[in-house]
Amino acid sequence: MSKWVYLFTEGGKEQKELLGGKGANLAEMTKAGLPVPPGFTISTEACSAFYKEGKELPEEAWGQSLEALKKVEEQTGKKFGDPQNPLLVSVRSGAAVSMPGMMDTVLNLGLNEETVQGLAKLTANERFAYDAYRRFMHMFGNVVMGIPKDEFEKKLVAIKEAKGVKLDTELGVEDLQKVIAANKEVYRQHTGQDFPQDPLEQLRLSIKAVFGSWNSKRAIEYRRFQNLDNLAGTAVNVQTMVFGNMGDDSGTGVAFTRDPATGEKVLYGEYLTNAQGEDVVAGIRTPKKIAELETQMPEVYRQFVEITQKLEQHYREMQDMEFTIEKGTLYMLQTRTGKRTAAAAVKIAYDMVQEKLITKEEALLRVTPEQVDQLLHPRIDPGAKVEVIAKGINASPGAASGKVVFSADKAADMGRDGEKVILVRPETNPDDIHGMIGAQGVLTQHGGATSHAAVVARGIGKPCVAGCEDIRVDEEAGHFSAGEAVVKEGEVITLNGSTGEVILGRVAMIEPEMSPELKTMLTWANEVKRLGVWANADYPKDARQAREYGAEGIGLCRTEHMFFEEERRPIVVKMIMAETEEERQRFLDQLLPFQREDFTGLFEAMDGLPVIIRLIDPPMHEFLPTKEELLQEVTKLRCEGSHPAELAAKEAILKVVENLWETNPMLGLRGCRAGIIYKGLTEMQCRAIMEAACEVTQKGLKALPKIEIPLVAHVNEFRREKEKLSRVAEEVLQEKGVKVEYEIGSMVETPRAALTASELAPEADFFSFGTNDLTQMTFGISRDDAEGKFLLQYVEEGILEKNPFQTLDQTGVGRLMKAFVKESREVKPGVEVGICGEHGGDPESVKFCHQVGLDYVSCSPFRVPIARLAAAQAVLESSQ
Ligand code: ADP
Ligand code: MG
Ligand code: MG
Repeated sequence: MSKWVYLFTEGGKEQKELLGGKGANLAEMTKAGLPVPPGFTISTEACSAFYKEGKELPEEAWGQSLEALKKVEEQTGKKFGDPQNPLLVSVRSGAAVSMPGMMDTVLNLGLNEETVQGLAKLTANERFAYDAYRRFMHMFGNVVMGIPKDEFEKKLVAIKEAKGVKLDTELGVEDLQKVIAANKEVYRQHTGQDFPQDPLEQLRLSIKAVFGSWNSKRAIEYRRFQNLDNLAGTAVNVQTMVFGNMGDDSGTGVAFTRDPATGEKVLYGEYLTNAQGEDVVAGIRTPKKIAELETQMPEVYRQFVEITQKLEQHYREMQDMEFTIEKGTLYMLQTRTGKRTAAAAVKIAYDMVQEKLITKEEALLRVTPEQVDQLLHPRIDPGAKVEVIAKGINASPGAASGKVVFSADKAADMGRDGEKVILVRPETNPDDIHGMIGAQGVLTQHGGATSHAAVVARGIGKPCVAGCEDIRVDEEAGHFSAGEAVVKEGEVITLNGSTGEVILGRVAMIEPEMSPELKTMLTWANEVKRLGVWANADYPKDARQAREYGAEGIGLCRTEHMFFEEERRPIVVKMIMAETEEERQRFLDQLLPFQREDFTGLFEAMDGLPVIIRLIDPPMHEFLPTKEELLQEVTKLRCEGSHPAELAAKEAILKVVENLWETNPMLGLRGCRAGIIYKGLTEMQCRAIMEAACEVTQKGLKALPKIEIPLVAHVNEFRREKEKLSRVAEEVLQEKGVKVEYEIGSMVETPRAALTASELAPEADFFSFGTNDLTQMTFGISRDDAEGKFLLQYVEEGILEKNPFQTLDQTGVGRLMKAFVKESREVKPGVEVGICGEHGGDPESVKFCHQVGLDYVSCSPFRVPIARLAAAQAVLESSQ
């Protein structure tokens, strides 16, 4: 015989898998001697068995439930179905992880025509009894039998209208009896049966409904989104009812042991007198602050405070609790780890270390890298008064205000003109990308956390609220509605992508700033982590930012930007067009001072830390005007015939552009290939780097240049470039008479490079994975062409679980990385290998880099704190 059912007196908090979170914690509180109404839990294993038996409750489980019910009867001195002294219960669902989409709770179960009278007598409160009964019918009909709530509501409203009253509380016993009769009719109409009078029948149907809800569409979707595929099922909790709606000495409420918004250590919560269950959340009456309970019921308050403290000490974690007071007696109905904002998560973890409640290591595991991410985006001032008009999925973090715009074209245009706009769409598709880029944030009515809008917004770092079914977008009318509110095009709204809230009007924002608590926690992270955390920075100001956030080096400085800037570009164009080597050298000489100046700033900012500078990477035609543009101009000049010199110049450029034209530039003349073909280019860059390093060294600072050769596929490419680099570097050091330690290394971003570590390792001082190109070439997918187009569909349809350009593909690309690390270190023990793709700032990928044994990850400056935490968690998680 298997054990399917556990009394609250039998379980404990370690049994979440078996009893669900709610059940395990109810048992834990019972064990600790707290006032918990007696009850029992039918295990998650029974849920699996339910499905194995074709959605039937295993007979054994039902038998054990009846036995448990007897025990509860003994504990309470009441009897289930007894007209004189009826036991009433609630039926509550609860999986190991709290999960939306599962069945709502049914309260007051066990009431029927007879027991309702018993309850009335017992409580000497007829109105209360009939009110409980009609609520039960409504809940049971809706939750268990799936009858739309509206159907019951309509009848209720009709009866209220007939009586000329507005509130439920204004209905008397006779009115409630009318409601009950009406409810019966609704029930019969929908189910073809009478409302079940047998309490055991009510119970059995409810238990089956809870188990049935495990595989509701919403529940399945939620589990897929959260990667919760190894859960057994939901448990069912059957618990003695206590009533907060028995008068002014009764009430119900929810409370947190600390402020879930700020993390401050104060009891935080609300309660309502004379109310039941969900009334607090339903917002019918305004609840009172928990502190008021102290004056209203001092003894209950004192006892409650004591319990909350005990619970927090016991769980060593902030608790979120439900309680009910029945005629002056306090009952605990639920406790669980409280949800909190990112700011509160940091403060609570930090404070609990100071209070010696948890260790630093535990604290580091209590804050997620995503929460740190949220804290580094501009966010809504917590003190600001906001009018939330709708709530959707918090699809991409951060907050933004702007004028509502319904078309992507308009958003793009206005964005270009410097206007701040929010793109509001029923949903987005690849044709809307330009609008998303032009907007400050994106709001969609449909689509989930992996919808186009969500994926793209996260990719471009814009806040996004997706799947906001509270709103109706009416493009033609030029407005969207949200409940009562109608927002016209041009009106300002604010999105909070971290919470999913849509707010009317502009709201005060605060710039990201690391709190002292976060700063301290990140120093703890540094004590724990093994991986270095470096940053990708092209400009001194980015380098300074990165350093402030704790970067330990620059893992990637892209030298291209220096070629793109306005005053330099004409020189670059001439350099590319040069017909002789001498001519080219002349223009390279003009570029040299610019480059040197860029590097000087970078070395200064990173004084004492390594700086990897990558030689020029993109295809040369990117620096020239497009062919279409030139053709137009040339044609115009030809027609006019008045500017022969200008025409000749344009024609010359056009010829070069045509020569440089490539069908597939991504696989064309770029990276070290360009350095090899364009004589003098590598030498100029190397000279600029080394002269800058000498200059900075002469100022008494420490420059640690690491020159990096991009897109190497064959060791001979590396050798060729390295030969030039070493020669020029030594020349410069000789000329300047300065000593600078420098290194020459290689990007690993072609599969061939990744597979030939044993050839490359003897030649290079260091390596860095460029996982963007490596992913493109491993998948054979061009990122720019795929992302936001078919790649999105791949993710939506589950062909790929995640976008491999955001989260490293561990099985494929990761395998190349592993092979490279292993082989390179066999040839050259301890050789430095890092990563500089965007993946270096993605927490999951950071953890993989730790496992693979990389020396450091390098990411955008703003992600440095995130990577530091992820790197520490990688260590802690692997030792768990
Ligand atoms: P949820 O998971 O949605 O919070 P719960 O099972 O916790 O659902 O219950 C919903 C509401 O009903 C809560 O306010 C809870 O406190 C209340 N409730 C549940 N069981 C009982 C009970 N036995 N007596 C009184 N109130 C109850
Ligand atoms: Mg609850
Ligand atoms: Mg690359």
